[in-house]
Amino acid sequence: MNIVLLGAPGAGKGTQAARLVAEQHYAHISTGDMLRAAVDAGTPLGLKAKSYMDAGELVPDDVIIGLVKERLREPDTDAGFILDGFPRTTAQAVALDAELAEMNRNLNAVVAIDVDPEVIVERLSKRRLCKACGYIGSVDDGPDCPKCGTPLYQRDDDTSEAVRTRLGAYQKSTAPLIDYYRGSGLLREVDGELTTDQVFSAIQGIIG
Ligand code: AMP
Repeated sequence: MNIVLLGAPGAGKGTQAARLVAEQHYAHISTGDMLRAAVDAGTPLGLKAKSYMDAGELVPDDVIIGLVKERLREPDTDAGFILDGFPRTTAQAVALDAELAEMNRNLNAVVAIDVDPEVIVERLSKRRLCKACGYIGSVDDGPDCPKCGTPLYQRDDDTSEAVRTRLGAYQKSTAPLIDYYRGSGLLREVDGELTTDQVFSAIQGIIG
């Protein structure tokens, strides 16, 4: 299965993608994770992306599209992939369609995770993550990762100003993709305000 997870920042895309990957062994393609790794490594891509990311703005389409095209050519995607955080603009969605057609592949489903913006702001301000094992939790977990004991950290762009910019970018550039994929018959919507387990069951019900 080749799946796109669509949703605002903090809707739960990363959490659900991690669970799907653990159970189904799909390739997890998170453009946010790829960019953060590039920033940490200080690569030319990371240097280019950092200022956009810190401000909560979208990184330019040509940069992201090139990155994802390259990633889709890696052999682990043959077993299926989950795109998490891509596409985020209509230009990215069009480029993805073209690239998949060229590779004789297609998307099986686009799962939109719906969460009210007020819930998003609350969630993101409380979100804490683990760099060592990838755990995504909240400030309620305490200072250390409940899975591996490493100190949890807060993302630089989970601060209130960047969150507002990210939500604005979502509404302006990404939300129109819901209609784009509804038009192609691929769209499936789930209520992202249910518990993590309930959202996961709903997604499993969709993708079979
Ligand atoms: P995320 O971890 O998905 O919330 O992404 C973090 C940041 O990386 C975003 O706020 C953007 O600055 C950048 N980013 C990630 N994916 C994309 C994308 N598909 N298009 C443009 N920018 C992206």
